[in-house]
Amino acid sequence: MRKNQIIIKACRIIYQGEDELKRLLLGCVILFFGVLVFSTPVLASGKTVVIDPGHGGKFSGTSGYSGSKTGYYEKQANLEVALKLRKELKALGVTVYMTRDTDRHFASTSKEDLAARMKVANHYARGNEDNTVFISVHHNSLPSKPTMRGFETYYFDINKGIDPDYPPAPLQKKYSPESRRLAKLVHSSVLRNAPVVEGRGLIANDLFVTRNAHMASALVELGYMSNPFEEGLIKTSNFQQKAAAGLAKAINNYFKVYEVYSLNGKRLKVYLNQENALSFAKARAHAYVFDKYNQKVIYHSENLYQVEHKTLGILYESYDMNRALKYAAKYRNTAVVKEKSGEVMWSNYLPKTYKVEHATLGVLYESFQQERALAYAKKYRNTAVINQTTGDVLWSNYLEETYQVEHSTLGVLFESFNLEDAKKYAKLYRNTAVVHRETGEVFWSNYLSGTYEVEHSTLGVLYESYSLDDAIEYAEKYRNTQVVKESTGEVMWTF
Ligand SMILES: [Zn+2]
Repeated sequence: MRKNQIIIKACRIIYQGEDELKRLLLGCVILFFGVLVFSTPVLASGKTVVIDPGHGGKFSGTSGYSGSKTGYYEKQANLEVALKLRKELKALGVTVYMTRDTDRHFASTSKEDLAARMKVANHYARGNEDNTVFISVHHNSLPSKPTMRGFETYYFDINKGIDPDYPPAPLQKKYSPESRRLAKLVHSSVLRNAPVVEGRGLIANDLFVTRNAHMASALVELGYMSNPFEEGLIKTSNFQQKAAAGLAKAINNYFKVYEVYSLNGKRLKVYLNQENALSFAKARAHAYVFDKYNQKVIYHSENLYQVEHKTLGILYESYDMNRALKYAAKYRNTAVVKEKSGEVMWSNYLPKTYKVEHATLGVLYESFQQERALAYAKKYRNTAVINQTTGDVLWSNYLEETYQVEHSTLGVLFESFNLEDAKKYAKLYRNTAVVHRETGEVFWSNYLSGTYEVEHSTLGVLYESYSLDDAIEYAEKYRNTQVVKESTGEVMWTF
């Protein structure tokens, strides 16, 4: 891979809807005129988690069973688990933000504090909401019932309806199915990994932070600090570490899905299984599949168009040809190339490969695209489409096809301007030969033996070919050789 290509790949732009594109464009700083400088994206990208350690500063959270004596309040336990979770997630390669990583509050009233907290959280997700998860860490309390204990997970569920007094953010309505999926994973994973019993279970409700998160969200109450036994457990580093590990595993698993999107970036379906996602996407005319864990598009119904610079390599990629064309037009020495076939769709420096030639009027039209040249040529009589690089006639409505596929007994089966096409056809049958229409030269056969022999003075026949030129080329490589026409014994060339 060319050096520039590596840099550019690191900064590759794949069209995934308007917002995604804007975000990526912002992340890619391109200085042109000779030097290209790419910076890594400055805004959030890839798998991202916003951890919210509940309360903080003047808001201590529950004082639990003994906090008023020891000074160890909920806000501290929340932060201790959150910091451990951050470490676990970073080890998994996830980008992590925290609403707070010190003992602080966000506003002077608790209501304003929650609003300000979510503003911070949503800012971190901005432009990358699809790939961001919000986890709020809390510990519970029920002083009237000190025996109450256990772990609980909360999330917003659109299916339970909306309380007009506690409306969700519009984006949370959109992400509600993802919040449910996240909460389920979190709930079972913490129960599996941490030494804690289940409290009231997995609960759908409309807590302020979960319903106002602009991303998939869940809130955990890791245990009851009003329960003396559980409070003691919660304060241990061992419990905190196991709870953090359980949360991290759940979040890691949350990303292991394949999402099918429409071309305008609307998520149509989420699959755990890659094959199912692919078959769903392929059954639709226009769709792409996003491997969320590896953060890459693994299938796209459209062709990928690359903007290639003469010396700098690939500058830009898009599944939308018009975007690629628009981008390419901004710079000199660029070409838009179809990634799969390598076909040049447009260029401001490459010669146009395909020309439409008229029998008497000369060149009528030139294009980078064979299809366009063909469409143009078909509008007129006495035209031919010619590949200017190879000189091959690709199509004509007046020239006679140059290459014929001849069968030993059935005669001419097929004609083409293209030798490779003729060969391909000939190979489908036995006893065929590809013959030049005018010269009668045999280019390929599966039953004729070679027409021209390369003979060595002492070693005998070294090589056989249907083509005299080919035989001579071979013979020239050795001394004491001559080329003989097999049928007549005539010497065609001698060393
Ligand atoms: Zn709390």
